[in-house]
Amino acid sequence: MSAQGFDVVVIGGGLHGLSAALYLARGGKRVVIVEESWVGRHASGASAAGVRTLNRALEELPISLEAMDMWHNMTALVGSDCGFHAHGQIQVAETADSAAVLERRLERSRAAGFTHEEMIDRDELRRLVPAIAPHCVAGLTVRTDGAADPHKTLDAFRRSAEEAGAVIEEGCGVTAIARKGADWQVHADGRDFVAPHIVNAAGAWAAKIAAMVGDEIALGHKASLMMVTERIAPLLKPVVSLVGRPLSFKQTDQGTLVIGGGLQGRADIEAQKSFVDFLQLSRSARAVTDLFPMTGPLRIVRSWAGMEAKTEDSLPVIGPSPHAEGVVHAFGFSGHGFQLVPVVGSIVSDLIIHGGTNRKIASFAAERLMPRRDAA
Ligand SMILES: Cc1cc2nc3c(=O)[nH]c(=O)nc-3n(C[C@H](O)[C@H](O)[C@H](O)COP(=O)(O)OP(=O)(O)OC[C@H]3O[C@@H](n4cnc5c(N)ncnc54)[C@H](O)[C@@H]3O)c2cc1C
Repeated sequence: MSAQGFDVVVIGGGLHGLSAALYLARGGKRVVIVEESWVGRHASGASAAGVRTLNRALEELPISLEAMDMWHNMTALVGSDCGFHAHGQIQVAETADSAAVLERRLERSRAAGFTHEEMIDRDELRRLVPAIAPHCVAGLTVRTDGAADPHKTLDAFRRSAEEAGAVIEEGCGVTAIARKGADWQVHADGRDFVAPHIVNAAGAWAAKIAAMVGDEIALGHKASLMMVTERIAPLLKPVVSLVGRPLSFKQTDQGTLVIGGGLQGRADIEAQKSFVDFLQLSRSARAVTDLFPMTGPLRIVRSWAGMEAKTEDSLPVIGPSPHAEGVVHAFGFSGHGFQLVPVVGSIVSDLIIHGGTNRKIASFAAERLMPRRDAA
């Protein structure tokens, strides 16, 4: 069966696919999202949902800072605050050497013209996080950063995209893409979706979609680990990370402590399965109990590993395909794409509706990850 009458086929119903569909539909495009499993099945539903400009790659900061403004005004975009609280993010130094690492980072971001990060001393750290262990000496913070609720965010972006007219097809995995005149024919679950534009937002599987339109893009993957404790009384408000040890630590509105920070489990991308590595998790647990000794007796109630694409330079791929006209890529967020969701959808929509964007996206070009096609 052939589904005609769409301007854009968005492949992938994670947050980036939803965000692109939302802006495109509001821009007057007829959009269908085709999602192999269900909306939010992979990285977007597994996310720690940290909303962080702190310590971002400098190349990402212009769009990340724009996204942060959007997070602070999220209700205007999707009719919900997505559970976002701007209680700040702090990277904590446990030693003078670690504090020097933070000072150097601050110098680098200031030299590049960014002023959002701030060094704080022991007293201010203790004022912001009274429960932190006394050996911690300093921190680097962005007070306007924070964290959101990934499921509220998925609900809000889905609802807004649908209200704007986007059609969502779940259980509809893309297996082939072919040219059909000036259009693309996207084959998924026994159906063909025909449109002049494709958005490749297929997360950990995006290189397969890219290959279907002739783009050979080198892509690795991550299987980031998370764990959650039982609920406890309020302990801390900012999101806390550490210098030199993998940790991201925060408390949700419900009182659970959410612990992540980049430690890796294992993934079988083909089988769409990920596996928790408890030895690795114990390293995060150790960092948490060193920083917050009162957490020692808490029970872990849940743990998981979420799958996501990782690029060589940990920068995303955002931009038009260099070879396949009408195709825009948005993937490879390498473990920190949640914060970028509201701005990347807008960029993708600009590229399709206006043929370009005034955002700085040169560093995210797909070409950097493709084999060079030297002239013979
Ligand atoms: C454990 C964990 C913690 C994280 N913490 C943070 C954080 O604190 N802050 C932050 O900024 N970022 C964080 N991230 C990263 C962030 O969650 C991701 O960058 C973001 O959710 C990626 O969204 P996406 O839409 O690109 O990918 P996904 O949500 O993975 O969506 C891709 C979708 O494409 C679908 N798909 C794949 N192949 C096909 C096909 N052939 N046909 C149709 N559909 C297909 C998949 O089923 C999937 O639903 C974290 C990620 C993980 C895993």
